[in-house]
Amino acid sequence: LSAADEVNSLLASYPDFPLDGIVFRDLNPVFANAAAFRAMIDALVGRFQGRFDAVAGIEARGFLLAAAIGYAADVAVLAVRKGGKLPGAVLTEEYDLEYGSARLELELGQLPAGSRVLIVDDVLATGGTIAATMRLIERAGYALTGVGVVLELEELDGRSRLGNADVHAIVAL
Ligand code: IMP
Repeated sequence: LSAADEVNSLLASYPDFPLDGIVFRDLNPVFANAAAFRAMIDALVGRFQGRFDAVAGIEARGFLLAAAIGYAADVAVLAVRKGGKLPGAVLTEEYDLEYGSARLELELGQLPAGSRVLIVDDVLATGGTIAATMRLIERAGYALTGVGVVLELEELDGRSRLGNADVHAIVAL
């Protein structure tokens, strides 16, 4: 099966979670299936092959993707963490969530200036999380290769908040 077929066949939907009116998409069954996980990683690596020196995963499920992509593509791995967890010199970005607001941080000095970075996360919803991560990557002096996600929720129009970034979603709903 293609990565898109794997994701479509395994993802689960939960109406009114975590709040009334929100349909929560659960990708854990995709991560929990070895063939689907491999297909998902191979699809993201293949889409951006040869164009990135590092992969930045957004806490927490982006970490799972970034670790596997970093290994498969033989590139560096960056962890973009929620606020207050990183020591030393960090960059901080505030952002709005579909429900609430939050902070993301990136530790400075991990890669050479100009390194080409691919950002990955599980879901692109309103785009606030990835937009904040893009600002962190830019402020750190790196070059954005693009954005890879497993699932894009098109009705929330998150893509419009990501400027002209090269955004790839394995599945769009
Ligand atoms: P944003 O609205 O694009 O900023 O998404 C906020 C964060 O919540 C991202 O890290 C997404 O992974 C996560 N998220 C938003 N909606 C869903 C969902 O339906 N299922 C799983 N994660 C979600």
